Amino acid sequence: MSSTKKKRELDLSAFPPGTVTEYSTLVCLACTFDIFTGQLGLAPRTAYSEIKKYTPTIAELTSPQASPPFFDSEEKNPHCPYCKAAKRWHAPFDTFRIDGGKASDAARRKLIKSLPQKDNQFLVIEEKTDKRSVFFNWLENLDHNLELEDDAWLLEISRAYLTRLEPKTDWAEVFEDLRAIRRSNRLSEGWERDGARLFLAPAVYNEAMIVQYLVSRSHVHGGRTFEGRLTLQELIRRLRYGGYLEAKGISQGDQFETFEKLIETLSGGAGNVTVYYIVDRTEFLAKVKSVYARYAS
Ligand SMILES: [Zn+2]
Repeated sequence: MSSTKKKRELDLSAFPPGTVTEYSTLVCLACTFDIFTGQLGLAPRTAYSEIKKYTPTIAELTSPQASPPFFDSEEKNPHCPYCKAAKRWHAPFDTFRIDGGKASDAARRKLIKSLPQKDNQFLVIEEKTDKRSVFFNWLENLDHNLELEDDAWLLEISRAYLTRLEPKTDWAEVFEDLRAIRRSNRLSEGWERDGARLFLAPAVYNEAMIVQYLVSRSHVHGGRTFEGRLTLQELIRRLRYGGYLEAKGISQGDQFETFEKLIETLSGGAGNVTVYYIVDRTEFLAKVKSVYARYAS
């Protein structure tokens, strides 16, 4: 969900790129008040205090498909798709998902400590997940933000992957005026910029290619990579000939088992991760108050 554009109130600049995902959705307060007063039979005053305490679920706040009383809209003056209520009845919910880990822990603690406490304006919800889902969440966000048909796409995806791999490097600088990315058998690890080209060690190059495949794959045409469109089978064959699979201890198994192991390697192995959701209720609380004032009068 990434509908309403608004100025960011939380300072997220201390987080390495790729560790924070932002979600935004709208809740219709006309629908919400109707549920509380109509279906639940509460008096407006009681409905008001219940709604103020209301905490949507993480699924409601982050699902790509909003369900009532939530909706997403890119319009400037949207109407509720369920009851047609105008904008003054809508309240935005902004949710920030922070992937736990060494790269983000200090920044996260500092941020959470700095949040205002009044009226539970901000909620912090923790959830345990595994490295694989963190990796897929990261992939999904790449998917939404990049233009697949553009050639610069291959560079952008590689840059995103390198940023995930080495969050402390200034990749904006490394990628400035960059024209091409090449595999370099001279490098045993990492990368090296030479003129307008960026050379990647074979393993890094292969992994950038796997990410390109994962982001762009479709069942019919395979995925788009540095080496053209490849089916899963073709991709695996290249990885095998290049020695990548053997180096990662993935030499056994059919293509689906190999694929699973590739995902595990790129995800950073097995293991659990804590994900922190920060829900910003500031505008919601303000809106509930003004809507109630109108409702009760
Ligand atoms: Zn509505």
